[in-house]
Parts: sequence; structure tokens; C-alpha cells
Amino acid sequence: METLKIRVLPDAILRQKCKKIEKVTPEIKQLFEVMVETMVLNHGIGLAAPQVGIDQQLIVVCIEPLIYKLADPVIIKSQGSQVGEEGCLSVPGESVEVDRCDDIIVRGLNENNQLVEIKARSLLARVFQHEIDHLQGKLIVDYK
Ligand code: ZN
Repeated sequence: METLKIRVLPDAILRQKCKKIEKVTPEIKQLFEVMVETMVLNHGIGLAAPQVGIDQQLIVVCIEPLIYKLADPVIIKSQGSQVGEEGCLSVPGESVEVDRCDDIIVRGLNENNQLVEIKARSLLARVFQHEIDHLQGKLIVDYK
């Protein structure tokens, strides 16, 4: 399957605020698949659209055996905290300690355009927060 090139700093797209999707079309569904392939090929556990040059609010997250594909993701509930080291495919060679919420609920549209809510804790919660940051143009280096 087709994969996309990972954009790295200082590529300006990584700093853009991404546009809402509103509706997951067949084209977006296909794009989710390409994003998953790209993430897997690069050994990532999450990927946001701006990392492949697309300024739209799309993320994919893969913590085996679960794969999530979400458009317009919003954190609607968060509690607790966790501190841990994070890397990013778009910031090669860097590792930054980031303070995140430990327990969250994310709402968004899945690949079938259904509004879903996902409960996430621990590493999964961390990855969602990292990818949602990307949609606002925020990167791990901002937490230094
Ligand atoms: Zn990242």
C-alpha cells in the first residue's frame, strides 16, 4: 500500500492549526488507511495528519492490538497525571519528558463517520494527547 513521507521540523505544516473534517468521507477513510500504513512502516504508535503534510484534524493511534482512527478528536474529560519520556517521528533524535493527564475520554468521528467516545488510560491516553497536540501545531519540544 501507498505510504506518505513523514514531515520533520522545521517543516511549517507541523506548526499549523488543522481544519475540522465534519464528515468522514470514503476519501478520508482511505487516507486513514494510508496513515496507519505510514505509522506502522515508521514504527510509530500514533500519527497525526500534519505529520504527513495534511492540515486536517485526523489522527491514528495503535497500541497493539487496538487501532483507532479519529477525525476532529476532542478531549472531553481528563483527570490524574503521568510524567514520561516522549519521542516523535517529526522530531527525530529528541526525547522530552512530558506531563500528561492519566485518564481521559476522547470524542471524535471514527472511520465510518460515527461519533464515538474512547476511554483511555496510561500509555494510550498519552498517545492521544500527543497526537491531538499535533492538530494544534504543538510539539514535544514545546514542553522543554
Ligand atoms: Zn508526534
